[in-house]
Amino acid sequence: MDLAEKDYIVIVQCDIVKQRCSGYFCERSFSQRTGGFAAYPRERAYRVTYMTCGGCCGRALHRKLTHLKRMLKKHEGADKDRIVVQLSSCITQDNYHAPPCPHLDYLRTLLKKTGIDFREDTRISDKAQKRREEGVYKCEECPEP
Ligand code: SF4
Ligand code: SF4
Repeated sequence: MDLAEKDYIVIVQCDIVKQRCSGYFCERSFSQRTGGFAAYPRERAYRVTYMTCGGCCGRALHRKLTHLKRMLKKHEGADKDRIVVQLSSCITQDNYHAPPCPHLDYLRTLLKKTGIDFREDTRISDKAQKRREEGVYKCEECPEP
């Protein structure tokens, strides 16, 4: 996947986690091109939108992304190939508070059905990553990962 060819990033976050998380660290990771965003060219002005999975089991994600695809096509003539989804770390990573989303494979299946390219991880805390590698999951910064 060539990220320089993408125009539109969709950051998908856990609906449960977002009940208490502002998403600050996801946004900062994108802004600073760290964690899951390290491969995105800094000079490129991406358009970014945030959405949650819609709640367990995540099925609403398919409808949300299908709507986005349709709107981009209808209003801008843009193809789905211009979009990339980034699954947030609280969905993809094990951590002190919770294991990864129990429906992660299902979310991946839904994403494949939309035909939209997707990637995993957003915020990766150095501290949490170290503890993850040590088998201890705790990070006081990001509410989850
Ligand atoms: S990765 Fe962190 S900042 Fe992003 S939505 Fe999940 S808990 Fe919030
Ligand atoms: S399906 Fe996964 S990502 Fe969505 S609310 Fe449930 S646990 Fe969170």
